[in-house]
Amino acid sequence: MEWRVPLADLNFDDEEEKAVSDVLHSRWLTMGAVTQEFEKEFAEAEGVKYAFAVSNATVALHLACLGLGIGPGDEVIAPSLTFVATTNAVLYTGADVRFADIIGLDELTISPEAIERQITHRTRAIMVMHYGGYPCRIEEIAAVARKHNLFLIEDAAHAPGASIQGRSLGTWSDAGCFSFFSNKNLSTGEGGMLVTDREDVAAKVRTLRSHGMTTLTWDRHQGHAYSYDVVDLGYNYRIDEIRSALGRVQLKKLAGSNARRGEITRHYWQEFSNSGLVLPFSQVEGSPSYHIFPIILPEGADRKYFIDCLREEGIQTSIHYPSIHGFSYYQKRYLGISLPVTEAAAAREVTLPLYPTMTDEAVELVVQSVRKTMAAMGKGSH
Ligand SMILES: *Cc1c(COP(=O)(O)O)cnc(C)c1O
Repeated sequence: MEWRVPLADLNFDDEEEKAVSDVLHSRWLTMGAVTQEFEKEFAEAEGVKYAFAVSNATVALHLACLGLGIGPGDEVIAPSLTFVATTNAVLYTGADVRFADIIGLDELTISPEAIERQITHRTRAIMVMHYGGYPCRIEEIAAVARKHNLFLIEDAAHAPGASIQGRSLGTWSDAGCFSFFSNKNLSTGEGGMLVTDREDVAAKVRTLRSHGMTTLTWDRHQGHAYSYDVVDLGYNYRIDEIRSALGRVQLKKLAGSNARRGEITRHYWQEFSNSGLVLPFSQVEGSPSYHIFPIILPEGADRKYFIDCLREEGIQTSIHYPSIHGFSYYQKRYLGISLPVTEAAAAREVTLPLYPTMTDEAVELVVQSVRKTMAAMGKGSH
């Protein structure tokens, strides 16, 4: 389908094309010097000691868990209003998830009080997710983690370039994980980054990312090593130079991209301020990355009708997210879980188009179409 206004779009130009072409001409495609540069620049930008570029954020989350020694018999507390990768990564390790509810319809991140209620003698870690690139209650949650001697992991897939109190999201914890999937704020197609200040986690991640091997193909190519040992059961979670080259260009554009996303977001908030919609995060502190623009429809509103009306106008929308505990696989695994606020958000949320190259005309079309649809719904004309 050809949308007049798509949900998301790349912020790519000749620079990305040139970066890829430079890699092709260098004749070195797998993890090497370009990836090292990307990691160095990313670590600097986020203000963190170690950064490891990997195949995607899902494996970054898996490595974060493994790097902290999470495994069978352990429990990790996590939100259910997130992408399924957040908790899948926990399950890969053999550990179990305990879901905690979100704060409210105006703040869709995990609740510190709900986290405390889920702590058992098996709990090893808390996994938070900075929904939409808006800071979760990270300071309070870090205090809960300290009090109960738990690890803290941040799913910062939405949050490159975001911060609170001047400290980057993804760097408030034992490990933070970023996604560079096409529709994320920093796009490389597939790709991700794990950041940490902990030397022990860094050492683990460095070997587990590449089969548990002590040296890399790149080191051997450089003449730094001629053989290797395998010291752990690792994986092939590597990124490649083409994606790292895209990442370096995208990182340079990140601040500008996020600023434009912020401008559009504030415009939407203003235009929808008396619309009957709940506007999540419009009161949240910090410096977000404005990854997506979520709205919450009035209670009892027909979401399918709303989405169909926008589709008629050529406007693409999405839902962030169907709750994880509602998926068949998770329902079978975790019977009878009730998270009332998450369930209300999952039933009433709609995500409107937001991307840095979005024109003022496209924003205006979305605003007018939403207004028209809300008016039609108010009159009960469907
Ligand atoms: C996109 C996303 C992921 C997974 O990222 P991939 O890079 O696609 O593996 C994890 N968590 C959240 C919240 C995401 O939005």
